[in-house]
Amino acid sequence: MHVFKFGGASVKDAQGVRNVAGIIRQQDPKQLLVVISAMGETTNALEQLTWAYLRQQPDVHSLWQDIRAKHEQVINELSGSNPAIFEPVFELFVDIEATLSQEPDAYSPPDRIYDQLVSFGELLSTRIVNAYLNQSGLDSYWVDARRLIRTDDSYREGKVDWDQTCEYITDTLAELLDTSVVITQGFVGSTDEGNTTTLGRDGSDYTAAIFAYCLDAESVTIWKDVPGVLNADPRWFDETVKIDQLTYQDAIELAYYGATVIHPKTIKPLQNKEIPLYVRSFLKPEEPGTVIGNFEKRLPIPSFIFKMNQTLISLHPKDFSFIAEENLSKIFGQFAEYGIKINLMQNTAISFSVVVDNQPERLARLLPQLQEDFRISYNEGLELITIRHYDEKTIDRVLVNKKLLVEQKSRYTVQLVVKDLG
Ligand code: ADP
Ligand code: ASP
Ligand code: MG
Repeated sequence: MHVFKFGGASVKDAQGVRNVAGIIRQQDPKQLLVVISAMGETTNALEQLTWAYLRQQPDVHSLWQDIRAKHEQVINELSGSNPAIFEPVFELFVDIEATLSQEPDAYSPPDRIYDQLVSFGELLSTRIVNAYLNQSGLDSYWVDARRLIRTDDSYREGKVDWDQTCEYITDTLAELLDTSVVITQGFVGSTDEGNTTTLGRDGSDYTAAIFAYCLDAESVTIWKDVPGVLNADPRWFDETVKIDQLTYQDAIELAYYGATVIHPKTIKPLQNKEIPLYVRSFLKPEEPGTVIGNFEKRLPIPSFIFKMNQTLISLHPKDFSFIAEENLSKIFGQFAEYGIKINLMQNTAISFSVVVDNQPERLARLLPQLQEDFRISYNEGLELITIRHYDEKTIDRVLVNKKLLVEQKSRYTVQLVVKDLG
């Protein structure tokens, strides 16, 4: 069987949904599972709505109406002679409105409420695509991924219980996949108690990998707005080159360092079962894209990853003790406790430097803790450039007009923390 995943950009409007349906229709409908994300920027809008709801702000209603209107517009453009087919979407509107009409449960952690509301994006988009496919004569079956993907209760970053999940997935889908295309949501899961969870922002690629792993899929294809994996993000670079074949190792390294074209958790389950991952363009579905698998050759050209808005924090023990096991375990423990991911680290005898995404709220809680033992210096507004399979020429090229603050080289990867002088 095969797994397809369509991201938000592919279903951002009615034309997008028609295009996705066209790609699905080209396939054998049997043994095809389709994972779909929320439409366009819906998840961002639902996040705004959630914060407003939790604070009981007056704009809750208008924020929700905007989201509802965007979905209604897509339905209006898609509905043919039988608009009743979109009834399940209106039922979801009713569910959301029922939640919003009540005050937030004071006993529920905010992250749990976040998952409950934000997950509606995927429920809505999959209901719309499913209805449209059925209306246009293709038998498809809508499945609630929350019933299949079991996670712990780490809301907003649910950890998958693989044994339970694979059992539910195979029990539910094995026969269904023999009869019709199955449509389901990316990004969502639920706890043993039946509370909705999400897998972390941009987690729908990961959902596709979870289904593929459990179903021993022959392949996964993630359909994107780019021709495949490129050697840099085309949003920042003019002259990008498409990579035809990529090893799992290079793919996981690129994703880990921030190449947002693939969610970093996607590769492991696929590599573990040697399932190839295709990255293809939903705008040019006839083109082959990139295939990620077990290949001999490594990346043919240097690949770049830019992370903007980085903060460099340097810690100096007040008592002049070495940066050794004791200090390091204390530092890592505190970063983990406040949920701050370290993008780069480097130490000398009595200083330890890290580069992190600028997250003012979390850092404001972490820094006072660290200040008990360390003197802290702090540098904001930086860029972190990672080059996989670098050479000196490419390093010189990216450093033009930049001040270099930290450089770290391993055999295949260089990371540069820079300040833009432009
Ligand atoms: P979706 O949410 O629709 O699944 P994303 O927007 O998350 O897709 O991923 C596609 C985007 O990833 C592209 O539009 C591109 O800007 C960005 N991107 C970052 N790095 C790369 C890269 N190395 N190759 C291709 N695209 C990249
Ligand atoms: N809709 C979710 C998000 O925007 C998941 C995804 O798109 O992969 O984060
Ligand atoms: Mg995405």
